[in-house]
Order: sequence, then structure tokens, then C-alpha cells
Amino acid sequence: MSETVREKALRLDADDRLAKLRERFALDEAVYLDGNSLGALPAHVPARMADVITREWGELRIRSWDESGWWTAPERIGDRIAPLVGAAPGQVVVSDSTSVNVFKAVVGAARLAGDDRDEILVDATTFPTDGYIAESAARMTGRRIVPVAPADVPDAVGPRTAVALVNHVDYRTGRLHDLPGITAAVRAAGALAVWDLCHSAGALPVGLDAHGVDLAVGCTYKYLNGGPGSPAYLYVAERHQATFDSPLPGWNSHTDPFGMTPGYEAAAGALRGRVGTPDILSLLALEAALDVWDGVDIEDVRAKSLALTDFFLECVREYVPAGRVESLTPGAHAERGSQVALRCTEAPAVMAELIRRGVVGDLRRPDVLRFGFTPLYVGFADTERAARVLAEVLTGRGA
Ligand SMILES: *Cc1c(COP(=O)(O)O)cnc(C)c1O
Repeated sequence: MSETVREKALRLDADDRLAKLRERFALDEAVYLDGNSLGALPAHVPARMADVITREWGELRIRSWDESGWWTAPERIGDRIAPLVGAAPGQVVVSDSTSVNVFKAVVGAARLAGDDRDEILVDATTFPTDGYIAESAARMTGRRIVPVAPADVPDAVGPRTAVALVNHVDYRTGRLHDLPGITAAVRAAGALAVWDLCHSAGALPVGLDAHGVDLAVGCTYKYLNGGPGSPAYLYVAERHQATFDSPLPGWNSHTDPFGMTPGYEAAAGALRGRVGTPDILSLLALEAALDVWDGVDIEDVRAKSLALTDFFLECVREYVPAGRVESLTPGAHAERGSQVALRCTEAPAVMAELIRRGVVGDLRRPDVLRFGFTPLYVGFADTERAARVLAEVLTGRGA
């Protein structure tokens, strides 16, 4: 007799080398498939935060800027993120939101490109905030926005292009874009490639240095589990650091911040991307959360992510009556991130019922059910259960 998908789930869990990482997280009975919006809490973070608050803040107070390493946290934590995105040390700094870092990166890249390049290409399918910010950056720097689908960037880029801003993974469909190919085409045209890694970092290898990316941004509260509103990061490739001219030259990026001099002089290195006083509590929660990556190879994470999304699609085919959902997520592994998006009629009511039954995904209005697969803490039995409950909801069973 052939194996059922349920038996297969148990076999895949038993063979999963990453399965034991689940113990590093505080989880409950629910199947949590929304870690691509807000990563789960790593179990050791509350105790670390209690120490930060009671001892570092409560007892050491101002001394902690130095003695507890608060002042240098943005670069130190940037160097913890760097290996996850394929960057050598000294190129990533953690501060501000992704939106603010998109602004720094796009304006900074436009300034690096020079005044004769008057176009900014923006991923036509981008997460909205990147588009809003790029539009403002274009107005401020006297350039115009050209919306382009990521796959068309190599054809659209030319001598007038200053910057191309692209999302590595489409937040809606889960489509993975060709970062190496697009970056190479943008650079060959003399423009700068700026990537948004919000939906890829922590789910798959990015290879920023290997592929010659110019600048990149990403958030830390999705696959990196940094906590609600944890600060984002900015990558500026080493070759651009000396000439990177931040549009937000706050005192934290001054070469001598405590000199309190009237004139701005940019510090060297990644910390040139800093602006003002960092949000230390969020930063240190993120730093602690990054411990869950100790000993984890991102290639293993990618392999498991693809196995999970393949298996979810297989379970959906097995359980859900034909025609009830349509996958928007590419079948080809080279084009798939770490989520599955299913188009479904009455998606809002379906997702509400899924959540009520302990399968937490999210909704992209009007008609997309989105399921994020975070390989550090989602397993194959969870995946089978999610598809089974989805089928029950869609067929009105098991309520
Ligand atoms: C989540 C996400 C953001 C979020 O931006 P914030 O400034 O952190 O709110 C930006 N871009 C993309 C592609 C995202 O997925």
C-alpha cells in the first residue's frame, strides 16, 4: 500500500535535521504559518530582556552605553546578520525601519550614480512602502520613477538609469526574483542595484557579496524573529562606503559624535548608515533572537523550506477539492521563496476560520491566503495539518 500524506509527514519530520531547532522557540498548539509577518518568540529572549531592563537599564543606567555595549550595538548586530545574507563583516548596520532604510539606500544610490542618470527603476510589484519612498526620493533628487516588473529590469536598464530597487521575494505571491542576473544587468549598465530582502533573509541564501549587490535593506521581525517592530538593516557594499552620502546624516554616524561639532563629517564603514540614538530594547531583543541561528547552515534552511512548500502543495492537491484554490506561488524551485499563496473565493472568511481552528496564516486582500514556512520551527506534520484543516474549512466539515 502506498504511503499516505500523513505517514509521509511523520517520515519527513523524523528525517529532518533541523527539527530540534523548534525547541529554541516558545510555541503553542497552533500551526504558525505567519512567521513571514512576525517571527515566533525565541524561548530565551524574555530572560535576556529582563536582564537588559533590570540590570543594564535599572542598575547601570547611563554606564550601559559603554559597559553593556549599547553604543556599538547597531554595527555588532549588523555583523551577526551579515553571514545570513552573505556579507563579509563591516557592511551591515541595524537601525530604523525598513522604510527609512529604503530612503537612505535609494537616495544614497542615486547620489552615487551621478546627476546625468535621471531614472529610478522600481519593482512594479513591490511591497507598497518601497514604492512610496522611492517616489519621494525621485522627486527630491530630480529624477523620475519607472515601474518595471523585476524580470524586465535587464531590458529596461540603460544609460539613464541611476538605481533599480527590487524586492528579492514578492510579498504577495512568494515569487523569488533572480538577484544574481538582475544585479549583473544593472551593474553592466552602470547603475546601482538596491535589493529589499524582507522576505528572503533568514529563509534562503542571498549572497550579497558574491553577486555584487550594491545596497540592500531588510527587516528583522519576519524570518529573523527579532520581535514586533525590531529595527531593520542596511547593507552598503564596501566599495561604496567611502562615497556613500547618506540623506539622513544624524549625529550617530558622525566620525566624532561626542565632539558635538557644528559641521558633519561622516564616519567610515557601515556605521555611516546610522542616524540617531538606537532603540536599544528592540535591538537587544533582536540580538538575543539571533542566537537561534547558531550552528544553522542557511543552505539547510533553504532545502527544508522548499521541501515544506512542496509538501504543502502536495497535501493541498490531495485534500482540497479541485478548483477551490489556485496557487500563485511558482512551481519551479528557482522561482519560489518560502511561502505559498493560494487564491480562494471568500478568502477573508476562510482565513478567519482557519485561525479559529488553530492554523494561523494571513490574508492579502481581496482573495489571497498566504502561508509562510519558517523552517526553524515549522514541521511537516504541521504542514499536513494546515492543508487538512484548510480542506475541512472549504468543504464545511469538522467545525
Ligand atoms: C515587511 C516589508 C517591509 C516593511 O517595512 P517597514 O518599514 O519595516 O514597515 C518593507 N518592504 C518589504 C518588501 C516587506 O516585505
